[in-house]
Amino acid sequence: TKYVYDFAEGNKDLKDLLGGKGANLAEMTNMGLPVPPGFTITTDACRAFLATGSEPEGLRAEVADHLARLEESIGRRLGDPSDPLLVSVRSGAKFSMPGMMETVLNVGLNDSSVHGLAAQSGSERFAWDSYRRLIQMFGKTVLGIDGERFDDALEEQKRSRGSDSDLDLSAEDFRALVDVYQKIVRDATGRDFPQEPREQMALATRAVFDSWNADRAILYRRQERIPADLGTAVNIVAMVFGNLGMDSGTGVAFTRDPASGAQGIYGDYLQNAQGEDVVAGIRNTVPLQQLAEIDPTSYDELLGIMSTLERHYKDLCDIEFTIERGKLWMLQTRVGKRTAAAAYTIAAQLVDEGMIDLDEAVRRVNGAQLAQLMFPRFDADAKKERIARGMNASPGAAVGKVVFDSYTAVKWSRSGEKVILVRRETNPDDLNGMIAAEGILTSRGGKTSHAAVVARGMGKTCVCGAEDLDVDTKRRRLTAPGGVILEEGDVLSIDGSTGMVYRGEVPVVPSPVVEYFEGRQVADDDPLVTAVHRIMTHADEARSLGVRANADTPEDAERARRFGAQGIGLCRTEHMFLGERRQYVERLILADTEQEREEALSELLPLQRDDFIGIFAAMDGLPVTVRLLDPPLHEFLPDITELSVRVALAEARGDANENDLRLLQAVHKLHEQNPMLGLRGVRLGLVIPGLFTMQVRAIAEAAAARRDAGGDPHAEIMIPLVGTVQELEIIRAESEQVLAEVAAETGVALDLLIGTMIELPRAALTAGQIAGAAQFFSFGTNDLTQTVWGFSRDDVEAAFFSAYLEKGIFGVSPFETLDRDGVGRLVRLATREGREARPDLKVGVCGEHGGDPDSVHFFHEVGLDYVSCSPFRVPVARLEAGRAAL
Ligand code: PEP
Ligand code: MG
Repeated sequence: TKYVYDFAEGNKDLKDLLGGKGANLAEMTNMGLPVPPGFTITTDACRAFLATGSEPEGLRAEVADHLARLEESIGRRLGDPSDPLLVSVRSGAKFSMPGMMETVLNVGLNDSSVHGLAAQSGSERFAWDSYRRLIQMFGKTVLGIDGERFDDALEEQKRSRGSDSDLDLSAEDFRALVDVYQKIVRDATGRDFPQEPREQMALATRAVFDSWNADRAILYRRQERIPADLGTAVNIVAMVFGNLGMDSGTGVAFTRDPASGAQGIYGDYLQNAQGEDVVAGIRNTVPLQQLAEIDPTSYDELLGIMSTLERHYKDLCDIEFTIERGKLWMLQTRVGKRTAAAAYTIAAQLVDEGMIDLDEAVRRVNGAQLAQLMFPRFDADAKKERIARGMNASPGAAVGKVVFDSYTAVKWSRSGEKVILVRRETNPDDLNGMIAAEGILTSRGGKTSHAAVVARGMGKTCVCGAEDLDVDTKRRRLTAPGGVILEEGDVLSIDGSTGMVYRGEVPVVPSPVVEYFEGRQVADDDPLVTAVHRIMTHADEARSLGVRANADTPEDAERARRFGAQGIGLCRTEHMFLGERRQYVERLILADTEQEREEALSELLPLQRDDFIGIFAAMDGLPVTVRLLDPPLHEFLPDITELSVRVALAEARGDANENDLRLLQAVHKLHEQNPMLGLRGVRLGLVIPGLFTMQVRAIAEAAAARRDAGGDPHAEIMIPLVGTVQELEIIRAESEQVLAEVAAETGVALDLLIGTMIELPRAALTAGQIAGAAQFFSFGTNDLTQTVWGFSRDDVEAAFFSAYLEKGIFGVSPFETLDRDGVGRLVRLATREGREARPDLKVGVCGEHGGDPDSVHFFHEVGLDYVSCSPFRVPVARLEAGRAAL
């Protein structure tokens, strides 16, 4: 194997092998841009090193060979005492992992070459500064010495000069610092700082390899779902110096604004400094535009290069550069990270600029970004007092009174207060408080902390790890920098999309993107809305997958339709049995005689019919899949404990009510240990006579009424929780009889479809038989996931999913993103066998997965006819269906 590539040998498509940095340095080299010469040690070498603990055979010789060529092209030798070549040793994995892995600069300096560097550069100060930097970075990253020891020594040196800027330190100061640093190394490791340049380089290379498995790198990968086995490449680059005087400097820049997407360059520049100073915030940077005055020639050249890069990569690029005595050098470029809003605006701009077509624009954005853009947001124009910044763990804008424990959160929210739960970190005991709160703020923990994971799962706004905040739960106060104190009950606003924490109430406004989907007037020159509109329109044209909504009220149906739903894929009828209507369910269950039961059902019939008329009207001309009653009946009855207590108390008083006693008996009779596996779905229809036929009649009469009124209803009747075709056949025969009756009574020809949910493994496994009795399938992937995994969908997320996520058993809950290998396999099989049995079978999905981006791609691959999801997810599903098709 070839383990080392000269920059001239690579290109941007070799990221697997050369890492992002190496591949892009190679690309820039071949574009003729000013990149310092160098070479890249491949990720293959890293993987081999990590697997065996030693360098793969041949690597050392190959590196020596490339180093010799590098020396020759520059005309200097590594660490030459009179005129040294220095190199940087930089990490660079396939996916950018900002700051997570190591880099060592100024490799090649030692006690003698430092003099050569001074002579060559004409600056003693620069040479000693560079040497102390090497010992500092090498000491920390290669030798594992606590970095604070070096920082403290530097601070001490500055203090002794009465300054807080390293610019005030002289050559002598840095020389003294080198002595101190060398002593630190000796103390900590028991040996001298290595003087041999090649040994420095080899050790630094190993340290970069090892940093792939540093704790923070592992954590970052888990968070960003970057595979753990990729390894990093190592780039050996000839040093160029930004710290050679005020005509030198270093900077970072974006070719467009990564926050808003606005055109124009954005960046920071720091004079007389090396790259790590910018990150370390040692001195304040200046806006890049000031470089136009500091060094107009370099500035113009930089602008030219940035536009070349944009046209070449056809995307927003970010770059790192250094100016050495008026000469510009490019140290890095890559396609830059951006916010959700910027992703949309930039994609549309690039189309206008002729760089990409609309297909590509649709590919460049995603549904998760769209979902983010749909959250309400803080009014950008409002006055805000920012007190801290944490991690943007779960998007949204939340305002409420500060509470410090879950008990108070629940209590206050019950009395109608909006609260923000503030904790150092949350644990599973906080779940109730998190549910009660508008938002969650923690001072500890990252994006995979308990608070973050749970909040995202609940769709709740969360800012975590706001480390500047001191959360004192005992004294019930929150202290922010600058002595800002918030007591329990004070108002706080948190922005889960940016991680910002504000004191007081920041007003929220609906997202302009939602206003647009709602069809309300939005400024037609809003670049974000215009971009979303163009991209959505194109995605709709491209997609083959239909998108319907799960909706069970006319209001939801109307919204879904505005959001682009092409029908209703799941209308759950259970809410139609709640509230005032509960009494009829009670009567139904308590009925002793056929007549009593029929009376109860006939009370429900007109109510149901009116529900359906409203929904069919809202979805006129489009299909509406109505699912017959699914949950166990006891859900509509009083709580067993409450009722028992009531009856017991009444009995003690001697005035027990006959009805309550019967009810209690019924509740006991219906009580199940595992209600989700019990008397629900089609089983109810088979056991409670008249229940399903009443529902079918209500649907049919509603359809007939709509047709009479000149409407165009397309009702579909869906039977839940079927496990065997026999169940379906019985209900189907009964339903067909009712449909015929209603057609005869009303004189309206009814062509309703009758189909079933596929939400039990047995139904999927016998899909061929079931399709014999079903005109359509709709996968209920909530129950299917529950039954395939044997996970209770109501309990597991709280009970143990955070542990499973932490241990990496799965990267995401299978209730959120469809488990392709297990559940997905059944979906494939049932679709194929169902269609074999009935070629015109319509197949959709109505579980939560219908609105999950990754799952939508899977359903497209399987060739379903449509996905159905909650109204707010409809735009996300439309977009992802378009992306899947392109
Ligand atoms: C399902 O199980 O996926 C489904 C859509 O039905 P419900 O969530 O109502 O059980
Ligand atoms: Mg279900």
